[in-house]
Amino acid sequence: MNGADPFRPNRREMILGGAAFGAALSFGMMGFSLPAFAQRERLWLSGSPVQGGLVLGRAGTGARAWLNESPLRVADGQFCFGFGRDETKPFTVRVMFEDGREETQTIIPRAREFPTERVNGLPEQYVSPPKEVQDRIARDAKVVTEARLINTDETWFLDPFDWPIEGRISGQFGAQRILNGEPREPHYGIDIAAPTGTPIKAPAEAIVRMAEDLYLSGNTLVLDHGHGVSTTYLHTSRMDVKPGDHVRRGTQIGLVGQTGRATGAHLCWRMNWLQTRLDAALCAVPRSDKA
Ligand SMILES: [Zn+2]
Repeated sequence: MNGADPFRPNRREMILGGAAFGAALSFGMMGFSLPAFAQRERLWLSGSPVQGGLVLGRAGTGARAWLNESPLRVADGQFCFGFGRDETKPFTVRVMFEDGREETQTIIPRAREFPTERVNGLPEQYVSPPKEVQDRIARDAKVVTEARLINTDETWFLDPFDWPIEGRISGQFGAQRILNGEPREPHYGIDIAAPTGTPIKAPAEAIVRMAEDLYLSGNTLVLDHGHGVSTTYLHTSRMDVKPGDHVRRGTQIGLVGQTGRATGAHLCWRMNWLQTRLDAALCAVPRSDKA
């Protein structure tokens, strides 16, 4: 990515802030008897138009929206969608405003470079799981997918996310993984190193959708922030919430650990938009610790 990075959360706030400012300005100048052209809604997109990024959209109350002609959930004019790690094709966003007018924008997710990470010393049954555990792994994946596909009208994802813990970043989203010398699927989480027992805080308001002990990811939590945006917490030593719990920003949801496939205590933090894996760091507030 180049120096003029438009993908940071502060950029997202700036765009949203600018939109609000523009609206306030036109109201201030023209009062409530706005000419028709000034009352017209338009399509606002903000967020991170990059591989692994979440894009936020607004089109006014009563609007409908489509991504590549598939309908998107819209709540009070707000919607979102995400780009996968390897997306390179253009995406078309179409909205129909309450008055029937339409607007279309095309976005090409900006390409990123992903590092290669080598992890050695993993127990062999985690790198190449024996046949007898492959059924369990498949069942685990199904449970996680079901939790991530929950899609409600809540819009808790609109605010930047807090970091769930502080600590050194020990693994990045999208890294090509080589486990014990064998290439495996890319890493879709952000690994944050921290001692076992470190409290994990909900980064934003959410409903807990899953709290289970899984073979590869150990004690695993899934939080639902609305519109299919979810965050996942892997390898925890303890889970303090259960499915259906409503948590606020900052609520303790569990403790850091190294359950499942982990070589040391850390939190693997993941984000999804439905089935699309996103980079949680792009939605998080800038880190103050620079650890
Ligand atoms: Zn991880």
